[in-house]
Amino acid sequence: MPAPNDLLSVFETVIGLEVHAQLLTKSKMYCGCSAAYADAEPNTHVCPVCLGLPGALPVLNRAAIEYCLLTGLALDAEIPPACKLDRKNYVYPDLPKGYQISQYDLPLCVGGWLRFSSGGEERRAGITRVHVEEDTGRLVHRVDPGGAEESLVDLNRSGVPLMEIVGEPDLRSPEEARDYLIALRQVLRYIGASTGSMEDGAFRCDANVSVRRIGDPEFGAKVEIKNMNSFRAVERALRFEQERQQAALLAGETVAQETRGWIEDRGITVPQRTKEQAHDYRYFPEPDLPPLAVDESMVAGVRARLPELPATRRSRIAADYGLGPNEAALLTEERAVADVFEAAVGPPGDAASARVAANWIMNDLVGLQRQRGLPPETLPLDADQLRDLLAALAAGELTARAAKEVLPQITRGERPRDAARRLNLLSLDDDAAVRAAVDETVAAFPAAVADYRGGKTAAIGRLIGETIKRTGGRARPETVRAVMEDVLRKDNG
Ligand code: ADP
Ligand code: ZN
Ligand code: MG
Repeated sequence: MPAPNDLLSVFETVIGLEVHAQLLTKSKMYCGCSAAYADAEPNTHVCPVCLGLPGALPVLNRAAIEYCLLTGLALDAEIPPACKLDRKNYVYPDLPKGYQISQYDLPLCVGGWLRFSSGGEERRAGITRVHVEEDTGRLVHRVDPGGAEESLVDLNRSGVPLMEIVGEPDLRSPEEARDYLIALRQVLRYIGASTGSMEDGAFRCDANVSVRRIGDPEFGAKVEIKNMNSFRAVERALRFEQERQQAALLAGETVAQETRGWIEDRGITVPQRTKEQAHDYRYFPEPDLPPLAVDESMVAGVRARLPELPATRRSRIAADYGLGPNEAALLTEERAVADVFEAAVGPPGDAASARVAANWIMNDLVGLQRQRGLPPETLPLDADQLRDLLAALAAGELTARAAKEVLPQITRGERPRDAARRLNLLSLDDDAAVRAAVDETVAAFPAAVADYRGGKTAAIGRLIGETIKRTGGRARPETVRAVMEDVLRKDNG
């Protein structure tokens, strides 16, 4: 059997992703119940509509429609002037109505692109459509105290607004699929449509994958993989499936079109259902909701809410502030972090100070953020605090070393300079104190002093470092160097 690398010259992998994202609305899709189901007691966020009681009538959640349109606009989709909702019928215990209200042939958004970077290259992949639908309830399987297995139904999630983003089969490798997902999640977070959290189930992905011989005009039979709950799991599942299909084709077998489930602990996919067992959802127009007219003023209103999107912001920040692509990508990963950077640095000007700010954010602030378990969008300092810190560093009022010591001790809303004063960590502007520390160092390190005087001038680095240490990091390196050179010269002579 050829090695995996050789297989990539024989076969091409084709991937298209279907993403379900929970929309950040307060209430559910077709009723007024709270959509915050995560921490609620089971079956407390329910009403006749989301319980599917006979005769209850749905009312469309306008905020959900707007989030879906916002997503479509962010992806350069077409917004047709009219769309409708459809019933998707199937039977399952977590679906009390016996159908989901979704969209079939006339979705809210059609076509479009996602721009993303993968393997150091800027790519774009087609979007087929974006539509709204509702979530199902949840089943909790457990063993009761008497040892019997039972399944409990929690309908708090029933009717929670979801958006489905169907991607074109434009992706060509598992890594590219992962990078597409990361970029899509970032767009949804930037526009505030969804938290995009895979762990919380607010961002779920079904991955379709097929393999064909290079040069084949037709795609191969596609396998849909379900049950991945991390980006890594999507990539691993796709890689497993890519290799399984390649092996089948090499052995002269055909790949069956089917749905398979990813088993995380075993690192494999297993068959779930074949094409013959596929559901017939008997879609038909939802009779309880009229078709929805999406007029130009509605689209314009939503378009006005569109922020600068990640790909654009990434390249603009790189160009404006003279940062590298990786730095710009890190700084713009979260919209709120990019906001802090731009607000603290101000309009583009001096590239050196922009870089200092970027480094403080990416190393120290993000480090402290992780240490404190803060969410990725929340830095430990706000823009005003960071601006004050950068100003103090630039003016020499704080040494970098002292600033690192002050940083974790700054209280909420406190100016870093005030914190440094409180902690007695402001730079020593008192020459006498620096001179005293230099004298102590010179007395304590005669060998380094002799080296320096003997012509090994690099030895001064050690002496400067020791002096700074003696001042608790408060002496500025330039001041210490000047005083030290002065002392070494004078005492020599
Ligand atoms: P279905 O009729 O099963 O819903 P669609 O054609 O609507 O299939 O596609 C569903 C998803 O599968 C889309 O994301 C699409 O990009 C992807 N897809 C379709 N055909 C293939 C294929 N041959 N290989 C990989 N992905 C595919
Ligand atoms: Zn309800
Ligand atoms: Mg389809």
